[in-house]
Order: sequence, then C-alpha cells, then structure tokens
Amino acid sequence: MTSLAHFEAIAGSIKLPGEAVIDGRLAGSASGKTFDNVTPRNGRILNRVAQCDAADVDAAVRSARRTFENGSWRKLHYREKKKILLKLADLMERDIETLAVLESLDVGKPISNALGGDVPNAIRSLRYYAEALDKIYGEVGPEAPDRFSFVVHDPLGVVGAIVPWNFPLHMAMWKVAPALAMGNSVVLKPAEQSPLTALKLGELALEAGLPPGALNVVPGFGTEAGKALALHNDVDMIAFTGSGAVGRLLMQYSGQSNLKRVSLELGGKSPHIIFADCPDLDRAATEAAWGVFYNSGQVCTAGSRLLVQESIADDFLDRLIRIARKIVAGDPLEPSTATGAMVNEEQMKTALRYIETAKREGGSLALGGSRTLADTGGFYVEPTVFDQVKPENTLAREEVFGPVLAVTRFKEPDDAIRIANDTNYGLAAGLWTKDISLAHRAAREIRAGLVWINGWDACDITMPFGGFKQSGFGRDRSLHALHKYADLKSVSITF
Ligand code: NAD
Repeated sequence: MTSLAHFEAIAGSIKLPGEAVIDGRLAGSASGKTFDNVTPRNGRILNRVAQCDAADVDAAVRSARRTFENGSWRKLHYREKKKILLKLADLMERDIETLAVLESLDVGKPISNALGGDVPNAIRSLRYYAEALDKIYGEVGPEAPDRFSFVVHDPLGVVGAIVPWNFPLHMAMWKVAPALAMGNSVVLKPAEQSPLTALKLGELALEAGLPPGALNVVPGFGTEAGKALALHNDVDMIAFTGSGAVGRLLMQYSGQSNLKRVSLELGGKSPHIIFADCPDLDRAATEAAWGVFYNSGQVCTAGSRLLVQESIADDFLDRLIRIARKIVAGDPLEPSTATGAMVNEEQMKTALRYIETAKREGGSLALGGSRTLADTGGFYVEPTVFDQVKPENTLAREEVFGPVLAVTRFKEPDDAIRIANDTNYGLAAGLWTKDISLAHRAAREIRAGLVWINGWDACDITMPFGGFKQSGFGRDRSLHALHKYADLKSVSITF
C-alpha cells in the first residue's frame, strides 16, 4: 500500500482544488485570473488556482459578516457547533491520504511527514478546539449589594487568517479551529506557494455542514489578497503566521484601516545548546540534526544555531554529521524519503546564497553546501553544517529558512545563555544537561516563548506556541488561543 506507486496513483486521480470557497460556493476569481501552482518536486505546474484580489476578498468578508450577524454559526447551540467541527475532523480523517498527497506535492515535503505529521496534527488540533468549545466559562464579579455582574467571552466577528507555506494545513488549523470554536466567521488566505490543502479544507467544511460564510478560503498573492484582507474595514482581527517583514506591514495596515487586532507568529533563529554534561549525546545529536533539517529547515522553530560546549564539541559534531549524512534528499512521494525539496526556486536560491555568505565570512563547511537532484527539475538542497560560526556572522543572526546549521562553540554555561539571547528573535530554545539547576536557570534566563530541556520540539496542541521579541506576539495552541479570538464583555444587572 505505502509505495511510491500508491501515492502517485492518488496524485494522478485527485481533482486538484483550484477554486476559492466564498459564501458556501466554489468559484473562480471575479477577474477570472488564475496563477500557476508549481510543485517543487520537479518544478512542473500542478494546476491553476484562482487569483483572488480585493473584489473576492470583499465578497468573502461580506459573506463572513452576514454569517456572523445572522447567527447561523455564532448562535448555533454549542452541541451543534461541536458536532459539525468533529464531523469535519472525521472527513479529514477519511481523506487523510488525499490531504497528505496534496501537502507533499505542494510543499515538496516527504509524504511520510505529511501523513504522519502535518495532517494528523491538523486533525488533532481541530478536535482539541471542538472538544474545548463547551468548556469555556465566564466569570462572576464580586458580590455587590445592588448588582450582579458577570464577564462573558464574546466572539470578535470576522477573523482573517493569513498563513505560510511550510505547514500549510497545520498552521491554518491553529487559527481556523479556535476562531470557529469561539463563534467567529473566518476568511482564510493560504500562501500562494501552497494553497491546495486550505482549499480542500474549505470544501470539506461545507460537506461537514458548516454554514455558508463561516469559513471562506481566498487563494492569491500576499500583495493582492492578503493586503486587501488586512486593510479591510470589516475584518476584526488578522491572525498571521509568516515573516517579520509582512508582520510589520500588517500592523501598518491595521493602523491605516480600522485598528483591527493583529496577532503575529513570526520567524526565529532558535539556539540549541549542548552542555558538556549532556545526558545522551547520541540522542541529542539526532535531535539537533532533525531539529534543523526537518522539512528542509523550513520551520519557524528550526534549531538553526547549535551552541556546543568546547570540551565535547568535536565528539558531538562527529556524531551529528554521521546522522545528518543519512538525511538524504529524495522524491517527496517516495515513502522512504528522509527529506524533500524546498518550497520553490526562490527559497532554494536564498538558502544557497546564505551558504555562500557563510563561506565568505569564514565558517568552516563540515557537510553539504550544494543543490542536489537538479536533474529532477526540483528544488533540493543538501543538509548543510557550518562549524566555527561566530555569533556576529550572518548565519548566526539571520533566519535562513533552509537546511543550514550554524555551529558555535562556547566555554562556560553563562556564555551559552548570553549567545542564545544575542538575537532579535525569541521563538524557541533547547538545552541538554543533567544539572537540574542549570536547566532551570537557563530556561528562566533565555528569552524565548518555548524552551525544551533534554528533547527538541516537545510540541503539543495543549501548550501555548509563540514568540518573544521580534518572533511576534499572541499565542497559537492551548486554551489561550481560544481567548485570543474573543473579547471580554462585562455585564452588570442593577437590582
Ligand atoms: P511571508 O510573510 O512571506 O508570507 C506569509 C503569508 O503572508 C502568505 O500567505 C503571504 O501570501 C502573505 N503575505 C505576503 N505579503 C503580504 C502582504 N503585503 N499583506 C498581507 N499578506 C501578505 O512568509 P513565508 O515566506 O510564507 O513563511 C516563512 C516565514 O514564516 C518565516 O519567517 C517563518 O519563520 C515564519 N513562520 C513562523 C511560524 C510561527 O508560528 N512563528 C510558523 C511558520 C512559519
């Protein structure tokens, strides 16, 4: 069953989604324009997708607003809301292979990752919020002699979700599920590089019985569809995952329009610290390698800065490189493929440029460094390791969003904490030590939204996810994310 032929057969038989989902219907863009959706697997055009612009976004926002006002979603009994969201999760489960193939083709990620990670994680997130929606309670205010006061969580209205291409379905679900669970209507703008699973989600939502307008999906370019959504005066919030550059624009758009709320999940340059008393060097080396090479490094929490204590550095690097050598790029649809392609030619060229810069700045190339599988027409880059990277070098400071690891050696634990914090970002950090005091002290002192001790990427829907500093603000996941999509309303009854 799980062979290349099996997944190619699925790819060959799927009708690739290409139409927007607006007001409960599938439709092309009002202008009739489409854009080419290219697969990084071989650089070929997969299909043509509706190129939504301000007119389509306006139609989607109007529909979302109508749905919010008429209450067909917002005022639905919580049992019904839950039933529909759980039905959607069941439909995703039914179509799990289709969704995984779409994700693999669109992003170039290994089918094993899509099938074992992206899609089940998205389903799990949806179920979590579907199950949570009838467990949200308000508060009762202090007792006053002549008054009864209480606090309720009111949905915001229309939420615009703008998401990136690295985990398209999963990132979309982190926003769509809690926003819907709170009773909002949503307009989802997927990344132009990877619109397929979001469009499929929109179709499945209709099949599940979500009322028209509760979830609209508008594929298109950031500067057209995304900007129009963020500038729209009838959108109450933009929930965003993506780059810092676009995050800054979104805050400007908010100021130029209706002061809509903005939540930003941005990039990172996450430090992964290996102290000399690391409890398990092989496991740490495996996690350090996969922590940066998973999804070809296109992960916001990628452990792209490895800080290793000098006394164990040579030994640790040997182990890491032995593991990284086995992470060989291959066809994303082949089930045994360890790592796939980068999302597009531009992203690949960016990674290759950073590799050249690192060489120029004196980094010592310890592994990889080149494009690979070029004869396929796809966009593959070898897992790459640079040793002797100084904290001030470009590779230690800028997010590559590719499979490139910067290794910096440190002498004392305090040096590691200082270097870890010497960044504009603050998304994730990891550290390995047997010393419980050092672990606690480092976790307290490192300025990051996620700190993992003796295990990288200990991620779960139950725990908040988001950054400090220029990695953004607002949290995805956990019950905190639900409250992000609601306003507090104080109601007082005077006797
Ligand atoms: P990007 O910011 O270029 O694009 C993200 C989304 O914004 C896309 O849908 C795009 O179309 C849209 N967009 C682009 N310009 C816009 C504009 N002017 N107005 C409105 N929308 C616009 O980011 P990307 O290259 O797709 O993703 C990579 C970035 O995302 C990296 O920096 C990465 O670290 C970050 N990321 C962060 C997280 C997190 O949770 N913190 C998760 C994944 C990715």
